[in-house]
Amino acid sequence: MLSPRIAQCQQIPLIHEVHSDDERLLNTLDGEWFEILYHFRWEDYQEPAADYYNALYDFNQAPPQTATAGGDASLETQEEARQRLLFDRPTAPIAANPAAPILFHAEVAERQAQDVQPSDVAPGVVPLRLVGRKPKCFFGLLKGFIGASLMGFPAEPEQVHLLLRSNPAFARVCGFSHKEKDRSDYHYQQIPSLRKVEQFDQIMTEAGIWDRIKLSEVKTNLATGVIRPEKEWVGDTTHYHAYSSFETVRYEDDKGNEQKKSQSKLTKRCRCEDWQACPHAWELRDEGAGTIVKSANKMIWGHKASIIGLPEQGVAIDAIAVSDAATHDGQTLFPHVEKVLGDHPDLAQSVRRVLYDSACDDAPLKQRFQDELGIELKASFNPRRSKAISEALPRGMESITPYGVPICLAGHEMDYQGIRYANETFIYRAPQQDDGLSVCIGCRQRAQCCNRDTASGRTITVSFDTLKHIDPSDPPMAKRFKAIMTRRPSVERMIKRLKCDLGDDRLSKRGNDSFQAYLDKTMISYHLLIRHLP
Ligand SMILES: [Zn+2]
Repeated sequence: MLSPRIAQCQQIPLIHEVHSDDERLLNTLDGEWFEILYHFRWEDYQEPAADYYNALYDFNQAPPQTATAGGDASLETQEEARQRLLFDRPTAPIAANPAAPILFHAEVAERQAQDVQPSDVAPGVVPLRLVGRKPKCFFGLLKGFIGASLMGFPAEPEQVHLLLRSNPAFARVCGFSHKEKDRSDYHYQQIPSLRKVEQFDQIMTEAGIWDRIKLSEVKTNLATGVIRPEKEWVGDTTHYHAYSSFETVRYEDDKGNEQKKSQSKLTKRCRCEDWQACPHAWELRDEGAGTIVKSANKMIWGHKASIIGLPEQGVAIDAIAVSDAATHDGQTLFPHVEKVLGDHPDLAQSVRRVLYDSACDDAPLKQRFQDELGIELKASFNPRRSKAISEALPRGMESITPYGVPICLAGHEMDYQGIRYANETFIYRAPQQDDGLSVCIGCRQRAQCCNRDTASGRTITVSFDTLKHIDPSDPPMAKRFKAIMTRRPSVERMIKRLKCDLGDDRLSKRGNDSFQAYLDKTMISYHLLIRHLP
């Protein structure tokens, strides 16, 4: 329902016209985006709409300062700035005190204007306070970004603008109309210019509105039972390719040795002609970008996001930018779990365990989860050795893999059975064939291995001392461990959906604030889609 205040003095939204091809689009198979936008519940977004119009008012009053004249910065050479910025990073060679935050936290511009109330706004209804040209409708622009993502394109201004211009059904369902032939003047319902779409995105980012909408989408899905709390969460990180390049900075470590590290190139925000001489501060061109090591010979210059989700339902509940992409994955999970616990008290009540890959297989970290959050951290086993064990082996065994699996002379992997605590050993048994008989019957190595006839096959024990790197209270060979960890890869499907189905892993903007906004926009579409799917 429109509020009376709107109905009395302003025009009723025009977007409820029904076109015959709208009906047809609603019935097409791939029309999820159309259906979601067509049935878009704008009433749920009146609060962010009011926030946006207030922020727009502020923006029009005083456009953001572009350059900061640093006092000391005027004395700083470019090389000094490079060193300063390197040592300020969360992955600095010498940790700063206090430590730089691991996760990105946007600084939200303080709002001055507060005049516009949620009840004042509706699609096509723009508050009167904004004098002059009537601004473009918040709801239309919001739907533009959500729609782009639902269609699988990045929710970025260039893409939204292109789609609005090239796809009439899309423009119409967002509430915009193409310019009429005999009309040359501005009209607020016309498709916005690229500059206006960019400005909308910038204001939404700076005022923290993308983040607030994301949070409210997840909360709505929880409150309405679209997603249910689970007793396990799953986490992982993922990378996006940066829209920037790096330079190699040489620096001295605490022992005085020369080291190298990749870092974003520097820039200044001012438009002075001579950056070497002007007094404005140098800053990183792409703050947050860093080298992400995928393997010994694969490194990516990009941004890193931490994802937390519900493994059973396969639903991502938060995605956050990591302050410095070069941060090790073992450091991102704890602060992120802490944040999600704070954001979602109803999820916090039921969570007992968090699953992660081997980057978090770390005893002190597990202890910290237990002590500070009362949550069990379960990580894939990281053997921290690459060589198989070949000494002090039971008779008939060739080696034991770093994962604690003995392999016999005939090449069979022994099945883990359990622990004999009395003599501190792990117990294994030879595997069975498809017919249920032990592989030992009929084995050629029998004479050197099984020294007597046994129908159940060879049983061996391996002392805890031989497998010092395996925690007997949580052995990764155990069925229970494996059963729990089978739920971990569900996070990879969540990441695929966010990164490929609802966008692109190649960024088109720089800086952590844009990256976080991109994650937020994608998450908004993701949760709208989940709500819509049967
Ligand atoms: Zn300058």
